[in-house]
Amino acid sequence: MSDKLKDRVAVVTGGSSGIGLGIAKRFAREGAKVAITGRNQAAIDKALKEIGADSIGIQGDVSNLTDLVRIYKTVESKLGKIDTLVVNAGVYVLGSVADLTEEQFDKVSDINFKGAFFSVQKALSALKDGASIILISSMVNGKGVPNHSAYSATKAAVRSLARSFSADLLSRRIRVNTLSPGPIDTPVFSTVASSEAEANAMKEAMGGFTPVKRVGTPDEIAAAAVYLASDDSSFMLGAEILLDGGIREL
Ligand code: NAD
Repeated sequence: MSDKLKDRVAVVTGGSSGIGLGIAKRFAREGAKVAITGRNQAAIDKALKEIGADSIGIQGDVSNLTDLVRIYKTVESKLGKIDTLVVNAGVYVLGSVADLTEEQFDKVSDINFKGAFFSVQKALSALKDGASIILISSMVNGKGVPNHSAYSATKAAVRSLARSFSADLLSRRIRVNTLSPGPIDTPVFSTVASSEAEANAMKEAMGGFTPVKRVGTPDEIAAAAVYLASDDSSFMLGAEILLDGGIREL
């Protein structure tokens, strides 16, 4: 590794699992001091062992504004002002337009859209001028996929926020960009499958939809997150990096 993020303070929401954990681990390898958040303290503690010595973990729900205020206060007091914020926490909720319940709709909107919006708003006073914010959207933000309407709409909202937030934060030189993954090998499939076998079958099928015939890895997303977090991407704002094995463009 190249110390691209040496001594920078990074926060990764939902950093206890999957893509967020992959980003937190790679940021730490690049020299950053990393704070992760997540819903489950045991999962956070396990993840911290993988991330390394200077990392801290804070339990909290991104759809709860009081939790967000507490999270950023804790980060500031333990690590200092924030250089990079990765808004990654999210849930995968599936259902066709005919079947999705109001409860499912509210859950996916509250965590993926409202959670993303306020994860940035409540961080503003703790962010350094010139900070980089990375919003994790999804390849489906620009594609119609069966059973994904509400989920995809939340991810399209997140992609839009990168543009508007960048415009709002110009005077502070805070850049906001979007990373949009295709299917990635994470525990998320277990949250919508009824068994491990079904989760694995779903993952394999999703990999099969990509031109490269495989799912991606969290570390492949993390490599792009390092680029967005570092000064290498200093001319990039309001934009999107699509990492989807070619699904959308081929
Ligand atoms: P995951 O289930 O492995 O991890 C999700 C993380 O978000 C966990 O740490 C969890 O604790 C946290 N989280 C969920 N709800 C939360 C809440 N209310 N408050 C705080 N933390 C919460 O999932 P993943 O696959 O790593 O997904 C991470 C992000 O990437 C999500 O936003 C997801 O929509 C997006 N994404 C995933 C894929 C994929 O194929 N895995 C593809 C495109 C986009």
